[in-house]
Amino acid sequence: MTAALKGAVCRGCGLALKGKPYHEGGGAYHPRTDERCKHNFYGGYVCSAQCDFRVSLTQEQSMPGHDHSQTRLSVFAQQSYNDNWSAQ
Ligand SMILES: [Zn+2]
Repeated sequence: MTAALKGAVCRGCGLALKGKPYHEGGGAYHPRTDERCKHNFYGGYVCSAQCDFRVSLTQEQSMPGHDHSQTRLSVFAQQSYNDNWSAQ
């Protein structure tokens, strides 16, 4: 167990969030705005649209058949991203 697992963190930037670790569930909240944090398509909390996009893209770039030249999300990850942030 590492220190990072003691509380919720943004998977994108590592920002400490209010709440329990992602695998324990229950939701997490942004330390400054108190807004409920979004879930990334591939798991984990994200504090912002930028983090959400970066986490998904990094995840997909590491998948078989993908590489770092990929700059756009898959249809499903993009849809999740849209759903997370379009209502703002
Ligand atoms: Zn973040």
